[in-house]
Amino acid sequence: MSEVEKYYISYNNVHKLCQKTAKEILARNERPDIIIGISGGGLIPARIIRSFLKVKGEKNIPIQAIGLSLYESMGSTGGGEEAIGKEVVRTQWLDFGALKEHFDSLIGKRVLIVDEVDDTRTTLHYAVTELEKEVQHQQKMLNRLDEPTIFSVFVIHNKDKPKKVDLPREMLESGRYLAAETVPDEWLVYPWDAEDIDEHTRLAKLQGHD
Ligand code: 5GP
Repeated sequence: MSEVEKYYISYNNVHKLCQKTAKEILARNERPDIIIGISGGGLIPARIIRSFLKVKGEKNIPIQAIGLSLYESMGSTGGGEEAIGKEVVRTQWLDFGALKEHFDSLIGKRVLIVDEVDDTRTTLHYAVTELEKEVQHQQKMLNRLDEPTIFSVFVIHNKDKPKKVDLPREMLESGRYLAAETVPDEWLVYPWDAEDIDEHTRLAKLQGHD
């Protein structure tokens, strides 16, 4: 069996892919009101894309972070290898109290959820589903059902593979799922994981990911 190929991605490459996607968002007139970075991989792209979504005379878009981790889990049926799956564990979530005070909650807002890579889609599915649920709950409580919240997703890379779970069809069909690049199902090495950043960047340049 051949060794898994690694794709080295440089900081420059990440930067340029964020810039490209921000241009697309602005061209569609869909500048978000708030960015939610999924910790930790989504934090750096979230911060970079914010710079390119800046519009003269407008305030910087606030960035919030949520912490999600994927762990091996046993399915509820128990036993057997096929029952082992990946479970999302929520390690940090939004403080809706503080959000309400400063940004009038997420109701009626454009929300951009950011992660570095869409692999099996499990993490993004969880983030979108849970945030949608939370907002709907608040809308009901505050009787503000007529103010839709519009969620979009931005990832630097989407791996071209069958996904374990999906995102809302309406999001996919209306172009609110934005992957800067779709790549083969190989291991992506991001610059923030590099032990030797010069060697990492050299390899990324050789592979054309700079
Ligand atoms: P998911 O399977 O839920 O789409 O991806 C979960 C997480 O796995 C991603 O947010 C990312 O942190 C990690 N991951 C998946 N594939 C890769 C990869 O090729 N490279 C790196 N560095 N992380 C990955």
